[in-house]
Amino acid sequence: MRPCRFSAPEPRIRFHPMEVAAQLALASASATLLAGGALFAAHWPASTLFGSTLRAPATPGEIALTFDDGPNPRWTPQLLEILARHNARATFFLIGKYAALQPDLVRQMHAAGHQIANHSWSHPNFAFTSNRETRLQLTRTQHELQSILGQPIRFFRPPFGARRPYTLRLARSLGLTPVLWNAMAPDWKATHVDHVAPRLTQLILRNQARGQASNVVLHDGGQHSLDVDRSASVAAAAQLLERFATTHRFVTLDAWQPAQ
Ligand SMILES: [Zn+2]
Repeated sequence: MRPCRFSAPEPRIRFHPMEVAAQLALASASATLLAGGALFAAHWPASTLFGSTLRAPATPGEIALTFDDGPNPRWTPQLLEILARHNARATFFLIGKYAALQPDLVRQMHAAGHQIANHSWSHPNFAFTSNRETRLQLTRTQHELQSILGQPIRFFRPPFGARRPYTLRLARSLGLTPVLWNAMAPDWKATHVDHVAPRLTQLILRNQARGQASNVVLHDGGQHSLDVDRSASVAAAAQLLERFATTHRFVTLDAWQPAQ
C-alpha cells in the first residue's frame, strides 16, 4: 500500500517559548543557588563547609575583643590605653605590611599582654586568590610577626572572613588556627559609636543567652590605608569594656585554645 501523500508528518518535539523560558529560569536558579552556596561557605562566619574555625566556647561570661587591620599609628595606641585602663587583654589581627612599618608598636602591643595574630600581608580576598598567592600572604606575615616578636603566631583571620578549603588547610599546616567571629557591627563604615556599640551589646547578650562566649570583631586600622577614621570603633570598645566590666571576663583567644 502506498503511503498516503498527505499523511500527517512525524510529530516533532517543540517547546513552547514559555516552557523554554521556564527551563532556562530553573537552570539559572540552580546555578545561582550553587553559586550562592559557595559564596555562603566562602564568606559566612558560621559556615563550616570549607573547614572548621575556632568555636566560641560554652563560657557565656567571656568576651574576646578582637581588632583587625592594624597596627595603626593613631588608633592602636588609643586602644592600648583604654584596654590598660580596664586591665583587659585583646587579640589583634595584624596586616603584615603595616606590622613591618611599625615593629615597635607591635612589640608594645605584645608586651602589654595582647595576642598578636595573622590577618594576611595585604588583605586580599582569599576566596579568589591562587594557592601560591595565599601561601605567600600567610607565610610572609607569619615570618614578619615572628621575627618582630621572637615567638610563634597561632591565630589567623582571613580578610572579610573569606576562604576556600585550601585557605583553612594551609593555615592549619602553618600552625595557625583559623578564627572568624560571632559578633560584628559594620564599625569600619560607622561614623558614630551609636552605630556600633548598641548592636554589639545586643549580640553579646544574645550569645550569652545561648550559653556561648562572644568573639567580637572591631577594626583599629583600614585595609587600604593607615589614614582612616576609627574613632567609632575605639569608642565602641571603650563602651563595651565599661558595660561588661563587672559581668564578663575579657580574654584573648589562647584562653579558648591554649598552646599544646
Ligand atoms: Zn580585615
